[in-house]
Amino acid sequence: MSTPKKVFVSYKFSDVVEGREGKFNFRDDLIERLGQNGLRHKGEDDESFDMEDYSEDEIYQKIAPYIKKSSITVVLITPNTKYSKWIPWEISLSLRERTYKEEQNMTRNGLIGVYLPLNPSLKPVETGGGYSYYLEKKECGTTTHFTSKLPLMIQDNIFNLRNGDHKCNKGCCDKVYDSNTGSYVQLVKWSDFVNDMQGYIDKAWDRRNNFGDYECRVNLKNGM
Ligand SMILES: [Zn+2]
Repeated sequence: MSTPKKVFVSYKFSDVVEGREGKFNFRDDLIERLGQNGLRHKGEDDESFDMEDYSEDEIYQKIAPYIKKSSITVVLITPNTKYSKWIPWEISLSLRERTYKEEQNMTRNGLIGVYLPLNPSLKPVETGGGYSYYLEKKECGTTTHFTSKLPLMIQDNIFNLRNGDHKCNKGCCDKVYDSNTGSYVQLVKWSDFVNDMQGYIDKAWDRRNNFGDYECRVNLKNGM
């Protein structure tokens, strides 16, 4: 039996919610699926928000209360995720060891990156969308992820299980990692994630409990 985990949802407002308030959008759909375990920061909703107006301490103060209530962070990945100024912070704070006296849960979060299905205009869509923008399955069965589409904070925390790489079954690919354990931030399609949400959350918690096995970058570099 797994215990319920509070989940912090990170997303790029302009891709996921803007223009879709009150209609189907992936953020609200996920929050609904998570029920009382969903948490999210509202800063990304504020269109006039300018990160440069805030000091690092202020950014920390804005995001940390949400992160520290959560055990798992789910990043909804879309084409503009890599341009968000919030998301690198949300990932960084999720990865940090936290020592709040008032908190029972004092340590870092498990992380999952969920690719949202896209239409040909690269907008996330509920039906008929695809994932070819983010990944491609090779004939040998290995999946190649187009990592340059991802924020650097994700790029630097995937395929990072120490000594976790091997050759593919057919021998044509080097540096293949297990999809469940090979990356601290597991990358998964939305369609797979929602079919087994608790399973992915449990696996993220397992990786978090084995944090020392991963080569993670925790802090931002030049805001990224
Ligand atoms: Zn191969």
